[in-house]
Amino acid sequence: MHPDTRVIHIRVPVPESTPLSPPLYQTSSFSFEDPEPLADGLNHPDRSYAYSRFANPTVRALEDAVADLEGAASGIATGSGMGAISLLLHALLRTGDHVIAQHTLYGGTHATLRDMADRYGITVTFVTGHDPEEVRQAITPRTRILYLETVANPTGHVSDLPALAPIARAAGIVTIVDNTFATPLLCRPIEHGADVVIHSVTKFLSGHSDVTGGIAVFADDALHREVWGHAVEFGAVTDPFAAWLTLRGLQTLPLRVERHAANVTRIAEFLAGHPAVERVLWTGSADHPSNAVARKYVRGFAAPFCFDLAGGYDAGLHFQRSVRLIRLAPSLGGTQTLILHPASSSHRQLSPDQLRSASIGPGTIRIAVGIEHPDDLISDLDRALTFPAPISGQ
Ligand SMILES: *Cc1c(COP(=O)(O)O)cnc(C)c1O
Repeated sequence: MHPDTRVIHIRVPVPESTPLSPPLYQTSSFSFEDPEPLADGLNHPDRSYAYSRFANPTVRALEDAVADLEGAASGIATGSGMGAISLLLHALLRTGDHVIAQHTLYGGTHATLRDMADRYGITVTFVTGHDPEEVRQAITPRTRILYLETVANPTGHVSDLPALAPIARAAGIVTIVDNTFATPLLCRPIEHGADVVIHSVTKFLSGHSDVTGGIAVFADDALHREVWGHAVEFGAVTDPFAAWLTLRGLQTLPLRVERHAANVTRIAEFLAGHPAVERVLWTGSADHPSNAVARKYVRGFAAPFCFDLAGGYDAGLHFQRSVRLIRLAPSLGGTQTLILHPASSSHRQLSPDQLRSASIGPGTIRIAVGIEHPDDLISDLDRALTFPAPISGQ
């Protein structure tokens, strides 16, 4: 054969020994000796690998690893956290269906539900998440989903999953929990009645700010099979390389989460004692409104939390310019500590009233604590908090 053909038909030998690092199957498609396993791979997610939108071995390794951590039967990895959320909502809801959701939802989830309400006549009842009676009252014959988050952004609100999930189950309603902020190390929602657990893999699971990804894992194989059919149509699959990077990050998840949680505790305590800080809103603190509920089923708090600067909006502006080690950026769950001043960035289009109802003040700072040495983080914070504020308007 000609070189032109030979360079195209390179075959990688399948080794008899097992590679220590999970192999990266960066391929869109698989070739077969026989037609039968090819057809199988296109009809059943578990029989063979045919086309990577349907299934891919590297992606499967990630799905199985996260399912294992969550105590789930199986999973579907997606191109982003929103990919997993949209997939589930679109797979499970039909025109006219009803959703019960906690009122403090991730912004993208809130926007998707609003959009689906407009376009498909989906109705949504928002609940506090603390009161079983409120959920019981909200159920209609068209209720399909109870949607919760283990630790919500930015308030640290925690719904009472163990109290609410049995009510949903008894009514045949699927309970979906976004567990991004807790990670499966600190909370396993399936043990407390969730049917589906979602993660933005972009955050703690990949853990190094180099992946955009998501995943949904299922307590029950039948629901997984149903949603997988939609996933193939939705096409929100993850890339094998993103899955491979995530598998690499996942190996240190327990170590990272332990360090995140230890750093968060130290920094929350430091901030609570600082005169430039008016209030710290951290779920791990005994005076947080969700602390008691959280302690029922969340083992620790590594997630971002908020604190309010006594100097208000100007102090917020000044503070985000004054940190040196800590970076000004969205996202969380990576190795580096990140801050945001929502009133001048992510939430700047909201009115003061809207900010208040989202529990965001003019001087609120959100901090996503990384895994640096805590002393270095505290000296950066201390310096940024102590510097004299610039003249307003500069
Ligand atoms: C970031 C995030 C999402 C969305 O994930 P993407 O990977 O950005 O699509 C969903 N839920 C929570 C709680 C998040 O923090």
